[in-house]
Amino acid sequence: MTDCIFCRIAAGDIPAVKVFEDDEIVAFRDIRPQAPQHIQVIPKRHVETIQDLTLIDNALIGKMVLTANQIAREQGIANSGYRLVFNCRSDGGQEVYHIHLHLLGGRQMIWPPG
Ligand code: AMP
Ligand code: ZN
Repeated sequence: MTDCIFCRIAAGDIPAVKVFEDDEIVAFRDIRPQAPQHIQVIPKRHVETIQDLTLIDNALIGKMVLTANQIAREQGIANSGYRLVFNCRSDGGQEVYHIHLHLLGGRQMIWPPG
């Protein structure tokens, strides 16, 4: 989708600091980081919310989590720990309607998340 900011990042039309990319997934640094490490892991395919995923997306969503785990190791936060977050729709705090997995780390997370 040409008016989707994350589709445009995936296509390389908008600059982003990418830390991982393959044929299905791209990961890049968040522009307004909420932690020392704040990375977005997204599918290249446009999917609006995690409610729009179906069984055929099983492998994709699993790959997103495994990619986040791999990036956490590469960024040196695997042992200290990190948080993976999907925000869904309004009450979930979703602002960008192209699914993305937040990888947050490098500091102590608090709970409840607010
Ligand atoms: P959410 O509120 O879950 O939809 O999260 C959207 C995230 O995308 C926020 O953390 C934003 O800071 C981030 N974001 C928005 N635009 C960009 C961009 N151009 N490059 C990197 N991150 C972005
Ligand atoms: Zn999109």
